[in-house]
Amino acid sequence: MFGIAIHGGAGTLPRAELDAGRERSYRAGLAAALEAGRAILAGGGSSLDAVERAVVLLEEDPLFNAGRGAVFTWEGRNELDAAIMEGAGRRAGAVCGVRHVRNPVVLARTVMEHSDYVMLSGEGAEEFALVQGIALVPNEHFRTEERWRQLERIRAGDPRVSPLTISHVGTVGAVALDSAGHLAAATSTGGMTGKRWGRIGDSPIIGAGTYADDRSCAVSATGHGESFIRAAVAHEIGARMRLAGQSLDDAVHGVVTVELGGMRAEGGVIAIDRGGRVVTAFTSEGMFRGSVVAGGDPQIAIYR
Ligand code: ASP
Repeated sequence: MFGIAIHGGAGTLPRAELDAGRERSYRAGLAAALEAGRAILAGGGSSLDAVERAVVLLEEDPLFNAGRGAVFTWEGRNELDAAIMEGAGRRAGAVCGVRHVRNPVVLARTVMEHSDYVMLSGEGAEEFALVQGIALVPNEHFRTEERWRQLERIRAGDPRVSPLTISHVGTVGAVALDSAGHLAAATSTGGMTGKRWGRIGDSPIIGAGTYADDRSCAVSATGHGESFIRAAVAHEIGARMRLAGQSLDDAVHGVVTVELGGMRAEGGVIAIDRGGRVVTAFTSEGMFRGSVVAGGDPQIAIYR
């Protein structure tokens, strides 16, 4: 048995901005990432390799708010966060506030595998990247004109755009179970449009936006990071399974629909358990998502 689920952010673009052509592009990006992860799992590869590969492809796709195409800070820079975790030994790696790392999820994995630390930030993370032979790119690598226009609208105080809704379209993540029975999760993001003062969201925080534990499940989240940190979303889902004996469905819906819904927090999660059951839940209008399990057909969806 194996399975993988991915997401490309919660919330939806206004229908007017998500015409048929763009919707096809989003679906194609999700399908390509899902297939890359599935192929690794089908070949007997690890869940860790599968989630990393799927997230790298989404970081490379300028439609998503991760890697190229990330949202801008108030000052007009791109600052990226990512995390990865494997469920067998609960090893984890994360980076936050990096400006010159093309694939932050790859650096997060390098932190996990080649340092004594779990999380590195900013310039230190980039020094570590160089020590590990990971080349840096200019910050302009991440720029897209669409994200720049979104920043300009936020800076101008356009009441029709909220920093939350436009950024949520695009944080990326993946969770997987491999045929050896091991779980893994990864998440990567540019955060929230117009963020200031080195703000870091939930995505790179182990237990908030990303968590994997072979005793329960693997989770990757997207949404209003501050709420997801306060609710320790990803860890809470696994803890409910482990300590309260809840099913994945009950744990996910309890945390997302009840807890986050009660906080009026916008966002959602993808999760997979040891049996390969995939559960997705979101409080927003939609969530860019896809999943496939051994022997099944790939599913891609945006709206409810
Ligand atoms: N959760 C991310 C953050 O707060 C943003 C998102 O998922 O849209 O940084």
